[in-house]
Amino acid sequence: MPSSGPDKKSLIGLGADEMSAALAAAGIPDKNVRMRVRQLWNWIYVHGARDFDAMTNLAKDFRAQMAEHFTLGRPEIVTEQISTDGTRKWLLRTGPGIEFETVYIPEEDRGTLCVSSQVGCTLTCRFCHTGTQKLVRNLTPAEILGQVLVAKDALDDWPSTAPGRSVTNVVMMGMGEPLYNFDNVKTALVILTDGDGLALSKRRVTLSTAGVVPMIARAGAEIGSGLAISLHAVRDELRDEIVPINKKYPIKELLEACRTYPGASNSRRITFEYVMLKDVNDSLADARALVKLLAGIPAKINLIPFNAWPGAPYECSDWAQIEKFAEIVNKAGYASPVRTPRGRDIMAACGQLKSESVKERASTRLAAEKSAQLARMPH
Ligand code: SAH
Repeated sequence: MPSSGPDKKSLIGLGADEMSAALAAAGIPDKNVRMRVRQLWNWIYVHGARDFDAMTNLAKDFRAQMAEHFTLGRPEIVTEQISTDGTRKWLLRTGPGIEFETVYIPEEDRGTLCVSSQVGCTLTCRFCHTGTQKLVRNLTPAEILGQVLVAKDALDDWPSTAPGRSVTNVVMMGMGEPLYNFDNVKTALVILTDGDGLALSKRRVTLSTAGVVPMIARAGAEIGSGLAISLHAVRDELRDEIVPINKKYPIKELLEACRTYPGASNSRRITFEYVMLKDVNDSLADARALVKLLAGIPAKINLIPFNAWPGAPYECSDWAQIEKFAEIVNKAGYASPVRTPRGRDIMAACGQLKSESVKERASTRLAAEKSAQLARMPH
């Protein structure tokens, strides 16, 4: 994190065990470690403390000891944009070339934060803007949770337990494929949903995947959040083309993993996302096939009008067609809300996120590090 000193570690994003180990290494006596972790978590995640001095009920010398070893550094805000519809988008940075976006979508009955899991993406879905940005790297738990903390700071949304909080839901639907960064996403979501952490109910957290089939069961067992699947096509031939991970894990295997997803039930339905691409996947025959395909799975269908971006090879389906498609799905008994596009004017809508970050070649990076090192040396 940029605000951390050169040798200090941020305590953000450390799981309980990791934080215990860090405190022990900083000289906190074993018998106090558990209590200290609880106190620190409470200050960090319930009260949003940004520095140790804010932790007014903890002894001064303990606070000083913490400040000597650790920081509570958050990602730096590069830009904040506010859409005419109230959607907000932050571009955050945690190091040279490590930039990623987070989007807050206020609605009448909830406020949803859309969080990124990677800088760039490996999946190259044809209709997705992020898919045109090569993977730079996975985000760390500190960077994933940092997005939540920055948004809550900006929205003045502390303490986390206050009634009427702004961030009521979190969706892992920003940049990247969360199941290709499983360990870090898991650590972050466990803290997000821990009663001593940010205390968001698992029902209010949704992880969206393009279909990394081997990780779906683990996500259910170890994270236990809601699941969303970026389906987008009902035939392998088309899905191979628009969601290329389908070549590795075809529709049948994907749906099998959904059928056995731990915790899926009528009250905890799996969301199937379906982007409406004009004359590509939006025929009424497709709608009927979709309904058939999902038979037997506790499902919700989320129709997403395609959000355009510069150079995109598709158009959004006509509104009348989306309505007809939705009617077939609804008649078959599926709730199928059409996702109202939010934040299009600031390129914050689904699939529009992208940062300028590019992966540096190792040689360029090494050269830059070396010259920085030289610059730090006494002359
Ligand atoms: N990689 C994960 C997380 C991204 S979620 C996944 O694929 O599920 C973002 C959602 O927006 C996905 O359903 C994605 O397919 C969809 N999407 C991508 N580009 C879009 C666009 N241009 N218009 C509408 N939806 C889009």
